[in-house]
Amino acid sequence: MTFDSLGLSADLVRLVAEEGYERPTPVQKAAIPLVLAGHDVLAAAQTGTGKTAAFVLPILDRLRGHANTSFSPARHPVRALIVVPTRELAVQVHESVVTYGRTVPLRPAVVYGGVPLDPQIQLLRSGIEILVATPGRLLDHVGQKTVNLSQVEILVMDEADRMLDMGFLPDIRRIIELLPVKRQNLMFSATFSEDIRRLSGTILTDPKTVEVAPRNAAAEAVAQIVYPVDRDRKEELLEHLVRKYEMRQVLVFTRTKLAASRLASWLDRRGVEAVAIHSDRSQPERTRALDGFKAGDIRVLVATDVAARGLDIEDLPHVVNYELPWQPQDYIHRIGRTGRAGATGEAISLVSIDEADLLRGVQKLLKRAIPWTVEDGFVPDRHAEPRPLRGGGFESGASGGRSRGSSPGGRSRR
Ligand code: AMP
Repeated sequence: MTFDSLGLSADLVRLVAEEGYERPTPVQKAAIPLVLAGHDVLAAAQTGTGKTAAFVLPILDRLRGHANTSFSPARHPVRALIVVPTRELAVQVHESVVTYGRTVPLRPAVVYGGVPLDPQIQLLRSGIEILVATPGRLLDHVGQKTVNLSQVEILVMDEADRMLDMGFLPDIRRIIELLPVKRQNLMFSATFSEDIRRLSGTILTDPKTVEVAPRNAAAEAVAQIVYPVDRDRKEELLEHLVRKYEMRQVLVFTRTKLAASRLASWLDRRGVEAVAIHSDRSQPERTRALDGFKAGDIRVLVATDVAARGLDIEDLPHVVNYELPWQPQDYIHRIGRTGRAGATGEAISLVSIDEADLLRGVQKLLKRAIPWTVEDGFVPDRHAEPRPLRGGGFESGASGGRSRGSSPGGRSRR
């Protein structure tokens, strides 16, 4: 299938060809015709699936009729509002709107927090048709009366699950109240949790659902590997792997704050620069740690799932599950931090025998087995050994016995 058959206008089809896109991605194939037809859409698609183009392209076509050359700001009200959880995503989505919108004379802009309001106020006053915004800053502008949302025709909520995780639900509700009742709603989320279904139920009208295989389940971009190891040797193994593969920017997940703090100080004492991020830390401390990590001064950032949710970091080369999460869904969230759009990322899980059930849960969700390998010098006494699954593949099941030096499905690393 090509972009021609989706119903987009010829100039947008030409434009995506210029961008080098040969074929629509699955989420684009499914969502673009629905958005063009004016439906509300609830789409499960992660970053890296091409989801941004899946809403930006059809929005441009739907709003094209409003394009005009009037100098009056009143002739350029906000028609499409795209709400996103983080500043980084806001910038990326805005760039996509600019790129794809080259041939459509509608005015895009982006507003997010952490930077002065004034330049954004000037921009909004000049008249903006497609606005990308983070929730808090958008409400600041509403409070200042610098933006009027009464003519919004299309609302997009991108990474809606992350917005909920970050506590934006009250802000979202306030924003919705400012919009016309009659509008088109598009909601994108990495997963369809209960919370997301509930939220979509209150915001979307008779939505069409689009679900594409999660990028991680397809496991193209992220190389996943399990290291069976004894629980009391995990920190040593982690240090060993970080040094052996000269890893930088490693995001390590633990289940508890205490484990995060302990592990970070253990690594730090051993000369591997590490910091734990958790909610007990002040905002300046968190920001400092995060900046150090992004700059490469801190090699390892240790976080719990909850703490990691508020972190504006993606595209990491390495994610380590020091402990598997209680919820298999969290495994997908965790490894989604790596290997974006073509970049290869690696997700390493250090799994002890007591986590065999958790590993099974993750593999069930992924619908496949994760390859595993035993590191020399870290052969566990007992480990979660794969047994054949019906219909091929392997399932991890707890078993006794000593492991071999390497294993089926294990791969040689570098
Ligand atoms: P997204 O999931 O929207 O963050 O997009 C991930 C990346 O895929 C971006 O860098 C896009 O430029 C790229 N992309 C989007 N659609 C396509 C396509 N149909 N073919 C190839 N690359 C694409």
